[in-house]
Amino acid sequence: MTFSPLNNLLISVEKQGPGTIKKDTFPLRYGKYSEIKTSEYEFRFNLNGEIKFVRGLNVNWPHPAEQLKRTDGNDWVYYSVGDKSGEHGIISWLGEYYLPCLPYPSNSIWEVNYLSNPNIMNAFAAWSQLYANLYGMRKDGLHSKAKDLISLILNNDDRVLYKRSQQLSAIIGGRLSVLPPDTRHVDYEIIPLMIADGCLYHCSFCCVQTEQPFKARSRSEILAQIRQLKVFYGRNIENYNAIFLGNHDALAAGDDLIYMAVSEAGSAFGFGGPCTKMSRLYLFGSVDSLLKSKNKLFEKLSGLPFHTCINIGFESIDSKTLAFLRKPVSASKVREAFKKMCKINAAYANIEITGNFLIGKTLSPEHYQSLVELLEDASAPSDGKGAIYLSPIKDSPGKRELLPQFFEIKNQSKRPTFIYLIQRL
Ligand code: SF4
Repeated sequence: MTFSPLNNLLISVEKQGPGTIKKDTFPLRYGKYSEIKTSEYEFRFNLNGEIKFVRGLNVNWPHPAEQLKRTDGNDWVYYSVGDKSGEHGIISWLGEYYLPCLPYPSNSIWEVNYLSNPNIMNAFAAWSQLYANLYGMRKDGLHSKAKDLISLILNNDDRVLYKRSQQLSAIIGGRLSVLPPDTRHVDYEIIPLMIADGCLYHCSFCCVQTEQPFKARSRSEILAQIRQLKVFYGRNIENYNAIFLGNHDALAAGDDLIYMAVSEAGSAFGFGGPCTKMSRLYLFGSVDSLLKSKNKLFEKLSGLPFHTCINIGFESIDSKTLAFLRKPVSASKVREAFKKMCKINAAYANIEITGNFLIGKTLSPEHYQSLVELLEDASAPSDGKGAIYLSPIKDSPGKRELLPQFFEIKNQSKRPTFIYLIQRL
């Protein structure tokens, strides 16, 4: 329902974007949302009335397809189309048409500091102005639906939005420091559910780990988390279709806990019903947890109404590099786990295992040579499953210069190969 301009605002109470996220060169649109347009900006809100996207419509806005997105962790991320469009642009190395430019340090190969661009930063002033205008607006003649939307938006000022992000962290037991690269397929819109903490290795290069040793959470704690998450997401839960089982090695939590958590969360969140689209499940695994996982786990996962994506941190297949990274696994174990990844991808249509390797100036020629040999020899998947992500080491100098090296590896790889951009929630 859209109302004719009032106080120079065009208000659409509810719009329906595509149900599934399409890879597209024009601003991402998906799910149900509300929209308010001024002559200079377009503001989109989720079903709880929380600001989600802002896009400039004025001539100073860098590109009509670019926009700011607010995450559930209350970060504003700027979606840039880069300097080349089409198949030779960002999509050739990220797998998406957009580069999410983050307001915090990460491992990006191409850093765009949108915070120093006044043409983008003006959008925040415009958002504050819109909020003030809505607050002071005479609402007498307004349709009740437009009034309801405005009061929902006014209930979610910046202070409330910040508190909500803190509340989410409190429910899951801490801020989520990294999402699997495959969550790009759902524009990083996942519901996080922590089933374990810590990880098995505590590698020296890692910038996202926690100090804790690996420990699975109890069933009762997971069930309580699901109940709280359902309340937290409220009506907007219908815009989600993906769960991230955390944290850094949920695969090590074992088949019973994984299966229980996904089944319970799926039914509580309304995922996987007969009339709903295919839901997605994301989790991280390690070389050891993948090698230990029994067929029973993959049989159980394949029976769920989810497309499951497990992302494994291989990092290197060169012994000296693994030692340098203080990753306590041998090169032969990495090779074995890589083979298992290929086998599972071929055996189950709705399970996909993807893998990460590191790139960076500090890594040796042997690391690159062994990686290229592995990817050259790996048979090409007929269904495009089993992507390989190359993750720049966070403190590597000259990250942009890694791009030609990335393409060299990608061109020799038989598997779909992309850059991994580390993003938090
Ligand atoms: S790379 Fe993975 S296993 Fe290694 S410390 Fe980081 S989270 Fe833990």
